[in-house]
Amino acid sequence: MTGLPMNQDLPFDEEAAPSRVSTGDLPEPPEIRALVTEVYERYRHEDGGAVADYIPALADASPDLFGIAVVNPWGQSFEIGDIDTRFSIQSVSKPFVFALVCDTLGYEEARVRLGVNSTGFPFNSLMAVELNDQRTMNPLVNAGAIATTSLAPGATADEKWDAIRQRLSAFAGRELTMSDEVYASESATNLRNQGIAHLLKSYERLYFDPDETTDVYTRQCSLEVTVHDLAVMAATLANGGVNPVTGETVIGPGVCRRVLAVMASAGLYELSGDWLYQIGVPGKSGVSGAIVTVAPGKGGLATYSPPLDAAGNSVRGQLATKYLAERLGLNLFASVPAAHPS
Ligand code: GLU
Repeated sequence: MTGLPMNQDLPFDEEAAPSRVSTGDLPEPPEIRALVTEVYERYRHEDGGAVADYIPALADASPDLFGIAVVNPWGQSFEIGDIDTRFSIQSVSKPFVFALVCDTLGYEEARVRLGVNSTGFPFNSLMAVELNDQRTMNPLVNAGAIATTSLAPGATADEKWDAIRQRLSAFAGRELTMSDEVYASESATNLRNQGIAHLLKSYERLYFDPDETTDVYTRQCSLEVTVHDLAVMAATLANGGVNPVTGETVIGPGVCRRVLAVMASAGLYELSGDWLYQIGVPGKSGVSGAIVTVAPGKGGLATYSPPLDAAGNSVRGQLATKYLAERLGLNLFASVPAAHPS
């Protein structure tokens, strides 16, 4: 089945529709500040999980590192812990590169070429490619993410890399650069990603040279960020695509909501359903230990703590996000019975 029956043509132009959001506001700043401190103290000594070591350069990260940042739609940030530590962005880059590609091709074309369903397989699965006729199931696991990178604007690998680095920098509100150490380490060990790229090429589901695409993808994963950068990036997706710190329009609101939809269905590897069930907001995690969470209209949240669970999601990050999502009122599915107007 290769058909994509859903959503062929929406009956209204939502880019032109009045901008209403389905959610309210975050609590007042003092309450956010208090909650960020509370959650940090609550989980800083949690010691479950293991630091990723399949990319040798990641294995050196201290398991004690823990940082939390919340950025609201006015660009105010509330942060605690290891907020200045730089780490490679890894898979957290994927939704932002998908946003760039949606902006380049249109989000419908991106859906047709890349898919937007969850795979049910680990992030670097070749089985997922073999078993699904569509080959790439979504842009947030490696097959779809590598295909997404292949669609970045530009005729050469350098042009694609420039476009990705510039757009992710606009999301972060500062010039991002690559960690040469992580890039070298991952390039020396990424045979599996090279295999995925070649397999996709054989199915005509990769749109650029496989080796060059894998190289650009590896660069993208090696971009260095802080937990503050990631919270600003998340807050940009929460704010209709306008960076709340710089005021720059990074992406349109129609692209923004599609990116969030894909994050909701596939952002936490094969535990994405559990995440949505328990936390109720779009998120994306990466193997260096970061998780970004986006509460549309309310703000962005990022956590950084390297020890991961078996699926590759930060243990402290999940606990802290769950706690904050509840206390800040982020769950998109939450409602309470209305008082009847008598
Ligand atoms: N660069 C990593 C890889 O492709 C990213 C994995 C991740 O963060 O999920 O293996």
